[in-house]
Amino acid sequence: MGSCPKCGKSRLFKSYLKQIEMCQKCGIKWVNVRADDGPAWASMLVSGHLLAPFFYLITFRLNMPDWLRTLSLVVIGVVICLIILPRIKGFFIALIWSTDAPTS
Ligand SMILES: [Zn+2]
Repeated sequence: MGSCPKCGKSRLFKSYLKQIEMCQKCGIKWVNVRADDGPAWASMLVSGHLLAPFFYLITFRLNMPDWLRTLSLVVIGVVICLIILPRIKGFFIALIWSTDAPTS
């Protein structure tokens, strides 16, 4: 949820997706824990599954023009990705840290 996985008292990100180098509360270094492409992959996987009901609704139930159907699916997909991406990145960082996975 955007807080330090160890203490939960400090923010994990200093901007939208830029993680902090070190927690100011507990002192753990996050600079070497890199989630790389995992969060982007998982965000697309989750958003695709969340988008499927909208796709079904828009495609088969509503009689919309093609341009509006495409635009609404793109907007909904982008909004879902923007909402879940930082949360999934935080989850990946916490998972890497908690399992002592090798870091760079
Ligand atoms: Zn901390």
